[in-house]
This record gives sequence, C-alpha cells and structure tokens, in this order.
Amino acid sequence: MEDCIFCKIINKEIPSEIVYEDEEVIAFKDINPAAPIHILVVPKKHIETLLDVTKEDGKLISHIYEVINKIAIDNGFSKQGFRVIANCGKDSGQEVMHIHFHILGGKKLGDKIVG
Ligand code: 5GP
Ligand code: ZN
Repeated sequence: MEDCIFCKIINKEIPSEIVYEDEEVIAFKDINPAAPIHILVVPKKHIETLLDVTKEDGKLISHIYEVINKIAIDNGFSKQGFRVIANCGKDSGQEVMHIHFHILGGKKLGDKIVG
C-alpha cells in the first residue's frame, strides 16, 4: 500500500534495523522502544487491522508465531520470557494500519492488564 510506513519498510524505501526476514514476514526494531527488547513482527501482506484477518491468513498467522519463537531463541531471551502485543483499532492506540506484533522483553514488564 502506497502510504503505509510498514510497506515502505518492507520495500526497503525506509531503513530499519531488521532482525529477521523471509518471504512472508519481516521483523525489525521499534524506532521508539518501550522496553530494552522491542521488536515488531510484520507480515509482508498488507492487512490493515486484526479485524481483516481471515481463515485464508491462518498459515501466515501461525508462521508469525513461529518467527516470534525463533527470534526469542536466536536472540537469547526465550528463557527469561517476553510479551507479545497486537493492537487493533482506536481504543488500543493502533497507530500503524498494517498489522504487527510487538515483542517486548529484556526487563520485568509492568502494567499487566490480564492474568
Ligand atoms: P501501534 O501503536 O500501531 O501498535 O505500534 C506502532 C509502532 O510502530 C510504534 O511502537 C512505533 O514506535 C513504531 N514505528 C512507527 N513508525 C516506525 C518506523 O518508521 N520505524 C520503526 N522501526 N518503527 C516505527
Ligand atoms: Zn502496509
């Protein structure tokens, strides 16, 4: 999508610190980290919000979680733990309208909302 900042990152029109990439997914460091580890995992397919995810995207979504695991293991923070967040819509504060999964870690995370 033309005016989508994450599509521009995917197309390398905007630089980013890429930590993982394959045909379907890219992962890069968040420009404004909320924790010592803050990585965004983004499908290359432009999907605006989680509400636009369909059954067709099932394999892609499970692949994203495989990639999250791989990133955690390869970067040495799988054992200490981490949090995955995906915002959807206005009340969540979603800013970029291309779905993405935040991986947060590297410290004891506060502000636990559920659990
Ligand atoms: P949201 O609020 O939509 O869930 O999260 C969007 C995230 O994208 C924010 O944490 C923000 O810091 C990050 N972000 C926005 N623009 C850029 C950018 O150009 N480069 C990188 N690396 N991260 C970005
Ligand atoms: Zn996009």
